[in-house]
Amino acid sequence: MAEPTIFKRIIDREIPAKIVYEDDFCLAFEDINPRAPVHLILIPKQEIASVDAISPEDVPVVGHLLLAARTIAQQLGLTNGYRLVTNCGKDAGQEVMHLHFHLLAGRPFSWPPG
Ligand code: AMP
Repeated sequence: MAEPTIFKRIIDREIPAKIVYEDDFCLAFEDINPRAPVHLILIPKQEIASVDAISPEDVPVVGHLLLAARTIAQQLGLTNGYRLVTNCGKDAGQEVMHLHFHLLAGRPFSWPPG
């Protein structure tokens, strides 16, 4: 059996995290190394390694993540906007092999990203 990822261990409450949102299908918590005044990690409770690993059956839960991101942004009053980012694979810098969106806000972001 592969070692559980850090994010799976957060879902299972084996390691602490500052959880800001949770429902039946997903969890959002503060990034441990924030790159913006608001930097959350939004994950499905279901174990999906990355965008590359999404299967057609996962479409409802992936869509649910986007709606949860919007709900969180509304709850936090992010009326100036926010950025949702998912890194997939080595060149994108994916470190944790559990699908996640970074929700970043609280300052302007440049484009294109580095
Ligand atoms: P990525 O490079 O897209 O895989 O991003 C992984 C993110 O997870 C990074 O921004 C890390 O700072 C963050 N991270 C890693 N471990 C933890 C943790 N225990 N709690 C919160 N965020 C974490």
